[in-house]
Amino acid sequence: MPRIYKRRPLLSNEEGVKRLAKRLTRTLKKKIDAIYVKKILRDPDKPHKDLYGLLVDNKIYLGKRKHQKTKTPLVMTLIHELIHEAFPSMPEKIVLNTERKLYRCLAETEKLRLKKYINIFKAQIPTHEIKHTPPR
Ligand SMILES: [Zn+2]
Repeated sequence: MPRIYKRRPLLSNEEGVKRLAKRLTRTLKKKIDAIYVKKILRDPDKPHKDLYGLLVDNKIYLGKRKHQKTKTPLVMTLIHELIHEAFPSMPEKIVLNTERKLYRCLAETEKLRLKKYINIFKAQIPTHEIKHTPPR
C-alpha cells in the first residue's frame, strides 16, 4: 500500500506556533512596504462598509474605528493580513481560524513585538499619505 503523506496542520503544537510567527514576521519585513492605520477604513467596493483591514499592493491598511467598536486588537488584523500575504491561496475561512488560533497561542512578548511594528511602520508614513484612500 502506498504511504500517504499527510501534512501536519500549521498550528498543531508549540513548535508550529513559533514557526508560523517567524514566517509572518519575515513576510512583514520582506514583503510589506507600509502599514496604514486609518480612522475609518472603507471597503473600496462597498463604501458604506467599515473594514478591519485590507491588503493592497504590499501595503496593509488597518481601520481604527472598527477595532475600537468591537474591542479587537489591531495586531489581530495585522496577523490576518500577513497570513493572506504569506499564503495567497488559503481560503478566507482558514485564514480566520489560523489568525484566531495564532493570536490565542502567541506569547505576550510576540504580540508586543508585532504592535511595535505597527508603530514603526506608521512613523514612516508621510503625513499626506495618511489620508490616502486604498485603490480599487
Ligand atoms: Zn481576509
